[in-house]
Amino acid sequence: MKYIIVGAVAGGASTAARLRRLDEHAEIIIFEKGEYISYANCGLPYYIGDVIKDRNKLFVQTAASFNQRFNIDVRVTTEVTKIDPAKKTITAVKQNTGEVYEETYDKLILSPGAEPLRPPLPGINSEGIFTLRNVKDTDYIKSYVQQKHVKKVVVIGAGFIGLEMAENFHDLGLDVTIIEMGNQILAPVDFPVAAMVQQHIRTKRVDLKLNTAVTGFTKNDQQIKVALNNGEVLTADVVLLSIGVRPDTRLAVQAGLKTGVAKGIWVNEYLQTSDPDIYAVGDAIEFENPITHQSMITYLAGPANKQGRICANNVVLGNVQKYKGSINTAIVKVFDMTLGTAGTASKHLKAANINHIVSTTHNGSHAAYYPDAKQMTIQIAFSPDDGRLLSAQIAGYDGVDKRLDILSSLIKQNKTIYELIEFEHAYAPPYSSAKDPVNMAGFVAENILLKRLKIFYWNDFEKIKPDDILLDVRRKDEYDAGKISGAINIPVDEIRNRLNEIPKEKNIYIYCEAGLRGYLAQRILVQNGFNNVSNLSGGYHLWLACTAETDNLHN
Ligand code: FAD
Repeated sequence: MKYIIVGAVAGGASTAARLRRLDEHAEIIIFEKGEYISYANCGLPYYIGDVIKDRNKLFVQTAASFNQRFNIDVRVTTEVTKIDPAKKTITAVKQNTGEVYEETYDKLILSPGAEPLRPPLPGINSEGIFTLRNVKDTDYIKSYVQQKHVKKVVVIGAGFIGLEMAENFHDLGLDVTIIEMGNQILAPVDFPVAAMVQQHIRTKRVDLKLNTAVTGFTKNDQQIKVALNNGEVLTADVVLLSIGVRPDTRLAVQAGLKTGVAKGIWVNEYLQTSDPDIYAVGDAIEFENPITHQSMITYLAGPANKQGRICANNVVLGNVQKYKGSINTAIVKVFDMTLGTAGTASKHLKAANINHIVSTTHNGSHAAYYPDAKQMTIQIAFSPDDGRLLSAQIAGYDGVDKRLDILSSLIKQNKTIYELIEFEHAYAPPYSSAKDPVNMAGFVAENILLKRLKIFYWNDFEKIKPDDILLDVRRKDEYDAGKISGAINIPVDEIRNRLNEIPKEKNIYIYCEAGLRGYLAQRILVQNGFNNVSNLSGGYHLWLACTAETDNLHN
């Protein structure tokens, strides 16, 4: 057997190594147009930011070590430019010499990845405007920043890579502005969770401009002028363009392989393209999302690596293992905070007409009495029919990753909010509380699902009529320090003795800081004959972040 792989980083290198483990006698050739193979793309921003100091640490394998360990013929700086599926050949071009040659294959695996978007804006090709995808880009950006004594950076696009780069530039002491066309950072998550992190970014003296688009660039002397659609013109020494990627389907299209609705390479559940002898993995493929059942592209290293293993199993053993799709579990460090997401955000569930309930809870990363507990916000979405979990998003400072992995695993297994309640975690005060934030998210969701808790949301205030009662049940000092306009204050601990101050027949909207005291107050009222009582999901804490960020959009 002769296997050829195109692309030697996440998906390609994983496929190649697994192919060898399964088939010691096959001929395996892997082509990579870049200089390096199997390197840590995900580490590149941290190398630019000097968090990773040793460049060599970025390379998981070199061509030589890969060849030595796996007996794989690694051909770097060699681009595959053509596939002839009928003849089962590829055409390769050696970039250094221009030599063109053909190789035959029995099975071909494509893992060409994605390429950064570079819209045709005036001046976009000026010196100092970069995209970040590979080691070459990284070396270029790093040396440019050092040699040109860069002070001001404009990062365009507040996605995962844009935010990681903003943090790394900031930590190098540079003055950072982030421009984002959307009304929030990180498009895959919902506004409230993004708002919590946006508030944090603003504390770092990073200028975050949302709802703002770049219209063009002009380079004069050493500086780049960045024109915005609001008429403003910024000055920068370096611009990082990080506005997204698109799947690299050029080879696939040239070969006549089917592409899908999301414009990625179409594959079946065995990761086989429309040609049975060609498989594809990674950022270039599209696949059915297990929650929305819509075809989508996942630009993440975990799925690419895991697909590589599945793909090799199917190539060698004959379509034995199905790929089940990705729920897009992702995590990003944004300065001191961490934001994680798994499943489909509420806004995308709405767009897909999937009925769901959203619940937001705030809890400590570990026992409050043990030093350094930090609050984390968990937002989950679940089905109103059976409580099936559809997504989880977490913003916090500590312990976000482990909660996200639990929630991701449950979402992936089609579990419900009842499994959150039963979830048994390891507990000692430095690590969690006797009821973990994951359990708490489940308790609240169960109360909502079983209609023991009626909630309203931070953006429901326009539905509240002048005649309704807005009740703040926090302590008086908290109320005095900041409240929602129109709210009266009866602290939860006084409510039993002050029931006569609350008109029974009216709609009562309660809030507290995080949601718990509001729930307690609601239970007291409901069991005392108050019928229309709702509690603010996520409490004042979430409302404050969301309204501050909404105000920022309008100013
Ligand atoms: P890649 O790993 O990009 O590999 C594709 C390779 O194919 C490239 O090296 C390319 O040169 C080569 N190639 C393309 N066409 C040809 C051709 N015709 N001939 C020869 N070679 C070719 N994901 C996460 O999950 N977490 C993270 O923290 C994270 N951080 C990231 C940070 C950065 C800066 C970047 C750029 C990406 C990050 N990602 C992260 C995304 C992740 O790296 C990708 O999802 C993953 O690498 C995709 O794997 P792939 O094999 O499809 O493509």
